Amino acid sequence: MNILRSLAGVWWGAHPFNLKLLYNAIVRSVLDYGTFLLQPGDVNAFKKLDSIQSKALRIITGAMKSSPVTALQVECVDPPLHLRRQYLSDKFVFKSLQIQNNHIITKLKTLNELIESSSFWKHKRLPCLIISYRKYLSIQTPTHHSHIFPLFCVNYKALILKPDIHLDMGVSKYQPQPNTNFNFVIDQDWNDYNHIYTDASKHPQGCVGVGVYHSQSKIVEKIKLPSETSVFTGECFGIYKAIEYILIFKIKKTLILTDSKSALQALAKFPFKSQPIYPILLDCRKLLMRCMDQNLTVSFVWIPSHCGIKGNEIVDGIANEAINCGDIYCFKNYSHDLVSLPKTYLNNAWSAQWYNGDKAKYYRRVQPTIPSKPWFYKYNFKRHETSSLIRMRLGHTCSPAHLATIGVLDSNKCECGADIGDLNHIILSCPLFDHSLLYSSLSSLSIPFPISVPYLLHTVDPVIYKIIILFLNSFKLKL
Ligand SMILES: [Zn+2]
Repeated sequence: MNILRSLAGVWWGAHPFNLKLLYNAIVRSVLDYGTFLLQPGDVNAFKKLDSIQSKALRIITGAMKSSPVTALQVECVDPPLHLRRQYLSDKFVFKSLQIQNNHIITKLKTLNELIESSSFWKHKRLPCLIISYRKYLSIQTPTHHSHIFPLFCVNYKALILKPDIHLDMGVSKYQPQPNTNFNFVIDQDWNDYNHIYTDASKHPQGCVGVGVYHSQSKIVEKIKLPSETSVFTGECFGIYKAIEYILIFKIKKTLILTDSKSALQALAKFPFKSQPIYPILLDCRKLLMRCMDQNLTVSFVWIPSHCGIKGNEIVDGIANEAINCGDIYCFKNYSHDLVSLPKTYLNNAWSAQWYNGDKAKYYRRVQPTIPSKPWFYKYNFKRHETSSLIRMRLGHTCSPAHLATIGVLDSNKCECGADIGDLNHIILSCPLFDHSLLYSSLSSLSIPFPISVPYLLHTVDPVIYKIIILFLNSFKLKL
């Protein structure tokens, strides 16, 4: 903590994002290590850890002592420690699922049964590991396991085959008429091929829909995959179904068109070097080998999405329909998809807590949702500028109004005597300052007037933030 303190004060020193990285590396890593095993534990001991976090976040942001910790956590995107403990436990358990018959899972099963049958645990907070295990149990779709290392399940010839993949067919979204250009390239290079389009799309809180569309015969396949599935797996599954279709109908020459570059890149990758291993892509390779054996030619091409290519638009619609009315397929969740669930659990728990909290009402207007990264990470403002902006966002600044609330000043009146000295008054209307430049810059941005400071800060727009900074700097204001 003293290292952090020596690197920055409120108005000088290192950029907060660098401080946050340093905190992650030297402080949080120590707080994290093995802590999920301590819960449920001594509440007062946990409070000591919490206070370390809040001290560190205060140094990072340069916030005032009065700013609520919950707000600082959101501002730095550093979750409350009890949620982080649960997250680390979830990650640990879901990672253990990758190996079949992992002894940790077997032990957790026994432990869970013991806890369920004991009256001691009825009204007690459960250990993190048990909560994680129950989350795993609540997933309805079974998990995909392979009894041996996945690569060993595949014929060597299938592992070393090189699929014919074209990632650049010379059609770009940014050309004037991508669709015409696309048709031209297809006519020239793949004229005698059958065309199968594939796509996947995910509903924000629900299932993944996969669409496969054979454009010559107009045959359509709609499949619905469980909500734990990632879009990537959905895209790979679309490709898998397309190859399966080729094998069933013994189509001599086929071009599979997808807008998922990552799926094609992963398929092209030599499986021995691919990390993680995607069993679905190994299955694709198995099918591709059968195609080769039967002299069926299969090529893949990447096409840009949402630029008017007809087949892609159709299959996009099919994938969207599949979310609601697709065929339910006997599917097993891949462990590489399950590994990303803890992050979702953390975000949901934290958002619920943030949304229902009663502290930091002002800050919640500025920052209603939890961002994925702190806003200041990409803004190259000076330390004192970021500190001012963060304090303004938190609503805890050295303005007369706030200083009076926390009992530092007797009166909340501004020095000009005209009004209460809050942020809106100081930045937008105080007669002591010249606001003409601020207003002329803001009015060129097509912002709806009348404006308020929380609204301006809510935008997280670098241009608006720069305008506020210029105003503060021109009057040497340190909020
Ligand atoms: Zn004033």
